[in-house]
Amino acid sequence: MHVLLTGGSGFIAAHILDGLLQRGHSVVVTVRSQGKADLVASAHRGMEKHRLDFVIVEDIAREDAFQKGAVIHTASPFHFNTTNVQKDLLDPAIIGTKGILKSIEEKAPSVRRVVITSSFAAVVNGSKGFWPEHTYSEADWNPITKEEASKSAVSGYRASKTFAERAAWEFIEQRRPKFTLTTICPPLVFGPVKHLSSPEALNTCNQRIRDIIQGTDHGQLPPGLWVDVRDLALGHVLAMEKEDAAANKRFFFTPGTFSSKEVAQIVGKNFPELQHKLQIVNSGDNVKSVSYNINIDHTNRILGVPWTSLEKSVVDTVHSIKTIV
Ligand code: NDP
Repeated sequence: MHVLLTGGSGFIAAHILDGLLQRGHSVVVTVRSQGKADLVASAHRGMEKHRLDFVIVEDIAREDAFQKGAVIHTASPFHFNTTNVQKDLLDPAIIGTKGILKSIEEKAPSVRRVVITSSFAAVVNGSKGFWPEHTYSEADWNPITKEEASKSAVSGYRASKTFAERAAWEFIEQRRPKFTLTTICPPLVFGPVKHLSSPEALNTCNQRIRDIIQGTDHGQLPPGLWVDVRDLALGHVLAMEKEDAAANKRFFFTPGTFSSKEVAQIVGKNFPELQHKLQIVNSGDNVKSVSYNINIDHTNRILGVPWTSLEKSVVDTVHSIKTIV
């Protein structure tokens, strides 16, 4: 299939691009600068026999950028480095998502499938910390309001993902376009980094593993849900390919839970040279499991991704970042 992949310079998009190229699809990637295009191209050298093109993001509404069979939209700000939630988080996420869907509808009648990277942030109810009687699935929606969104960068990010995904589903309901939509809701994503312009550019989620190997994580963060980036990338590609089964569905995408202490124990076992930095291993008891249940039956049944173990994910992540952070 001919695919347009947005946010091609991102951590997750790099793996989606791998999966698409390996499975024979041809891909046009959107990036925000020529430098980023060069970075992505060099990380995928050796795949030249497949088609791989780039467009600078300002050109995203250009008609020929959209003459594809599918669009995978990953681009969205994922950082907490802002004092202007509206401008830096909400607008790019919401306007970006609506803008792409509108452009496809108006200019690209050949697009049949759209897959959007949403987030567990669009699922979780942040006001319920301890919630043992609840089971999260794709049926849940974060009830965050506009007022709550502006309270902090974390709330702003969660709201950006919730409002952007809601806007996408509203678009489908109201416009009934020719294409179908699938959204994927992953929690924290671990896994090897394919390209990095600088140590500061390390993506937000792998900063948690960086902090553990640098000894600055003292177990202050609660346990959470995670997923390996390669499984997530495959999930996007399968969602696109399984047109009938995955169309107009939302997927909660995680194999389960992790804690910082558990990650540190894996690092200690596999990287003895880092042992002395892993203060958290000897810190007090770090509760392993989260305070709610999860149901991923729908994702397992329809996408059927063989989940990578936490140990493999952490080991591969540490191999990829330990020399650069
Ligand atoms: P990255 O920060 O690595 O990638 C984000 C991508 O979005 C980059 O290509 C970035 O471009 C692009 N982008 C950000 N803001 C804009 C903008 N205003 N206009 C155009 N492009 C923009 O993050 P991830 O790969 O981790 O995240 C990808 C997607 O996955 C996001 O939608 C994120 O919300 C979602 N997600 C990530 C999770 C995680 O743990 N990693 C968990 C759940 C969801 P540039 O490089 O030029 O800045």
